[in-house]
Amino acid sequence: MRKLLFQSLFRSPLTEAPPSASDAALAELGAALKRSARRSLGRSLSIREVDAGSCNGCELEIHALSNAYYDIERFGLRFVPSPRHADVLMVTGPVTMNMKEALERTYNATPSPKWVVAIGDCARDGGCFAGSYAVVGGVSAVVPVDLYVPGCPPRPIDIMKGLLALLEGTNVEMPASQG
Ligand code: SF4
Repeated sequence: MRKLLFQSLFRSPLTEAPPSASDAALAELGAALKRSARRSLGRSLSIREVDAGSCNGCELEIHALSNAYYDIERFGLRFVPSPRHADVLMVTGPVTMNMKEALERTYNATPSPKWVVAIGDCARDGGCFAGSYAVVGGVSAVVPVDLYVPGCPPRPIDIMKGLLALLEGTNVEMPASQG
């Protein structure tokens, strides 16, 4: 025990260094997202996350979007608990047999216009779970997909870039009642 304590005095930390608090690229990307959401929707973008059968690796990266570093709410993006309040369904994982109906119902409960963003390789085509007896396939096997963000899992910054691409590629006029 004494040896361990002694070693810990001189050994560098085993954890990764935290990202710099003044990350200009993140601030720039966030500002672009905020401008795009304002331009496309006239308000902030609401996201409903749906885990359709993922290993939770993608969820960890999505959760990171709300941590103190990424803090996407400051850029006008927010996660909402109900699909009825969402503009975007952010779906992870291969769609399992058990989650197929839940995903369909969530999609149907989301008001139009709406976008489906498939996060991660599994959401694209089933990924490493493709062919499993328990899996229907990628997200597009159940609901139409507007954007894929590849990766296993994709980094939070890639998810933000994907959302920006989605907003930049859309020219949707929202009804005034939804503004
Ligand atoms: S893409 Fe990778 S991290 Fe995401 S659900 Fe599939 S296996 Fe897990």
